[in-house]
Amino acid sequence: MEESRNCEWGLPKHAAMTTLGRPSRTSMITLPSIDPIGDGKALVVLLDHMGNSLSVVNDARQSFDNRKEQWDDKDAKLIAYLAREGHTSPFRGVVFKWWVKAPLFIARQWWKHTVASTYVDDQLGWNEKSFRYCSAEDAQFYTPLVFNKQSESNRQASAGPLGGNDGNLALAQYSQALQGCIQAYEGLLAMGVCKEQARAILPAALYTSFTWTCSLQTLFHFISLRIDAKSAQSEIAAYARALLTLARPIAPEAFEAFETNNYQF
Ligand SMILES: Cc1cc2nc3c(=O)[nH]c(=O)nc-3n(C[C@H](O)[C@H](O)[C@H](O)COP(=O)(O)OP(=O)(O)OC[C@H]3O[C@@H](n4cnc5c(N)ncnc54)[C@H](O)[C@@H]3O)c2cc1C
Repeated sequence: MEESRNCEWGLPKHAAMTTLGRPSRTSMITLPSIDPIGDGKALVVLLDHMGNSLSVVNDARQSFDNRKEQWDDKDAKLIAYLAREGHTSPFRGVVFKWWVKAPLFIARQWWKHTVASTYVDDQLGWNEKSFRYCSAEDAQFYTPLVFNKQSESNRQASAGPLGGNDGNLALAQYSQALQGCIQAYEGLLAMGVCKEQARAILPAALYTSFTWTCSLQTLFHFISLRIDAKSAQSEIAAYARALLTLARPIAPEAFEAFETNNYQF
């Protein structure tokens, strides 16, 4: 991907450009990205993409064996109709490739979006860092910026920050447990235990990374289920917002139709 594309993104202020690759490698690339959690560890990078809103309406017009070169008002009406009426297949011709760094518990929720994540999808859309091959000795771990209370009315939700000194006590306990896991992991490796067994004691807070290739339909569906922090966990909702922010400039008219449809897809 050429760096000259960077100036075309028109991204909001909280988006940044990230350089991927190891310093020793010559293939480092600079790409649009967002740290969704704001902890300096989480990251969503848009690696590549294909197609735009015109591709969606052109795929829809394939029914009439028609194509257009320029977007016009009729296309805005057509794309709104397609989104509203659930004509989803034209949205599959727009494709995004992401690089995501997320804690294991978020990656696990993400992976439940089986279309574009598992073997059932012919795009083979999910490829993850393996702690059979990579040592976790220099790995990073997620620590919540704020510790929240358990909601009493909703078993899957939280209910605002812990009061008084409880947030500090929770942080101390959490950090101590993380340290225990890291020390035990390093101890096992030092004894010569293989990485594929030692990794079993690493916690769900461990940051992993994966590439995810998905269609615009899958992206809309993911966002529709995960962007609302009242139902979805707030961390994955933050990732959904980052995906939306980075993808929107590629197909703004399609996103407008999606938003008009109250993020239902
Ligand atoms: C708030 C929230 C809480 C959740 N809690 C849990 C939980 O406690 N435990 C848990 O295991 N999961 C949980 N999930 C995951 C949820 O059950 C879905 O697996 C996940 O949201 C992916 O949605 P999906 O199946 O629509 O997406 P995808 O797997 O990407 O599928 C997209 C669409 O394709 C179609 N499709 C996919 N596979 C099939 C199939 N085999 N047959 C027919 N149609 C198919 C469906 O129309 C589906 O909506 C939760 C999700 C949310 C948002």
